[in-house]
Amino acid sequence: MNTNPPNCLVIEDSLPGVAAGKAAGMHVIAVPSVPKRTAEFSSADEVINSLLDVSPEKWGLRPFSDWIDDTLPIEPWFIGGPVIKGFGRGSKVLGIPTANLPAENFSDVLSEHTSGVYFGWAGLSTRGIYKMVMSIGWNPYFDNTEKTIEPWLLHDFGEDFYGEELRLVIVGYIRPERIHEDARIAEKALNLPLYAKYTDSPYLRNSLKEDNSANGNQSVIDSK
Ligand code: ADP
Ligand code: MG
Repeated sequence: MNTNPPNCLVIEDSLPGVAAGKAAGMHVIAVPSVPKRTAEFSSADEVINSLLDVSPEKWGLRPFSDWIDDTLPIEPWFIGGPVIKGFGRGSKVLGIPTANLPAENFSDVLSEHTSGVYFGWAGLSTRGIYKMVMSIGWNPYFDNTEKTIEPWLLHDFGEDFYGEELRLVIVGYIRPERIHEDARIAEKALNLPLYAKYTDSPYLRNSLKEDNSANGNQSVIDSK
């Protein structure tokens, strides 16, 4: 290609591909084909869950032109069913109620879509059509092997509507589920002296004293 390796950006879904790209001195984005195995790809410069999350501007390249007002239009998909009880995590208490649907009816559709935040339109049989934002995540009740959707209708209903028929048209993508990316950022950043110095804080240390005997004096517990 007649290009210097540091000017190359490799997008790879396999471990050998990532290793080869790094060995050649190139920048590598890993898109693991098996979800939730991102830790194994830590030698890549960036690990993403989906090609939707490639950001050329992070690499000094021109941004993709298909993003509009922070959203990526997608081929719409259509799902619906009766509103059921969700996980009762108290989301309503936090002002974010999510009308849950029986996901087993469309687990195929969900497996095709990467976890993250989407949006679209919601139709409630007896009430009308509303704007809606929704996250797709992993269902803790099925050991995180099944996905779940959490649609939040952008309207103040002032009451519940369990049992009503809810139809969704999902039209766009906003961002990936972030907690794993956040964990990677924190894991790395906490090694910087700027943050690492707080492990000397007497506030943290004092609580360790009682445990020291039991823990063999291990003072900083590090996953690496
Ligand atoms: P659950 O765990 O049972 O889903 P939530 O705290 O997530 O409980 O509340 C969701 C319920 O709140 C929905 O099933 C619906 O009946 C009601 N609800 C009221 N307003 C809204 C809204 N704007 N968006 C979604 N659900 C709402
Ligand atoms: Mg809910």
